[in-house]
Amino acid sequence: MSKAKAQQPQVIHKVIMVGSGGVGKSALTLQFMYDEFVEDYEPTKADSYRKKVVLDGEEVQIDILDTAGQEEYAAIRDNYFRSGEGFLCLFSITEQESFQATVDFREQILRVKNDDTIPFLLVGNKADLEDKRYVSVDEAQERAKQWNVPYVETSAKTRANVDKVFYDLMRTIRDKKAANSPKDPPKEHTTKCCVLM
Ligand code: GDP
Ligand code: MG
Repeated sequence: MSKAKAQQPQVIHKVIMVGSGGVGKSALTLQFMYDEFVEDYEPTKADSYRKKVVLDGEEVQIDILDTAGQEEYAAIRDNYFRSGEGFLCLFSITEQESFQATVDFREQILRVKNDDTIPFLLVGNKADLEDKRYVSVDEAQERAKQWNVPYVETSAKTRANVDKVFYDLMRTIRDKKAANSPKDPPKEHTTKCCVLM
């Protein structure tokens, strides 16, 4: 119905989940979307989600692309990355390799977006598994500092910081869009014009 259509939020923020297999990209996405911890989401499945949320009083839509690392051709992966306005780059605090892999993801994203101010959060997931921690807070913070991005630890299991990473990223995306759009759009009613005769 046309009424429902008119209520669609105008503003859409496009978020891409990246990181090695098994770090919790799907679990984090599904926890944010549906308030559920899903333990056995199909590991090879890439999927997209959309949700209407209120961001600092403004109704907006978030589009989330949950990648699965199975993108066979670099061109497909690059297309995914190109479509993103912001990135949640995940590793698991229980796995050093996944932390190392964030360097490659960051590189690929910067190559495609060609912009080192692209909205980006480094996310250490599985923070509930403190006794299995193999990546220290210090080394993760150090990397985030080098990249000039925030570092946040999450748990898709306990829901710790799940909303925070999505909302913080949306705010960064929103602010970047605002900075890139013309500051003072011409005001129709106050702009004087001369009539050419
Ligand atoms: P993806 O390949 O990055 O999408 O990873 P998944 O979301 O499929 O998660 C891989 C496995 O890790 C699943 O068994 C999840 O239940 C588990 N997992 C994901 N996030 C967390 C978390 O925050 N804490 C714990 N304990 N397990 C998690
Ligand atoms: Mg997945």
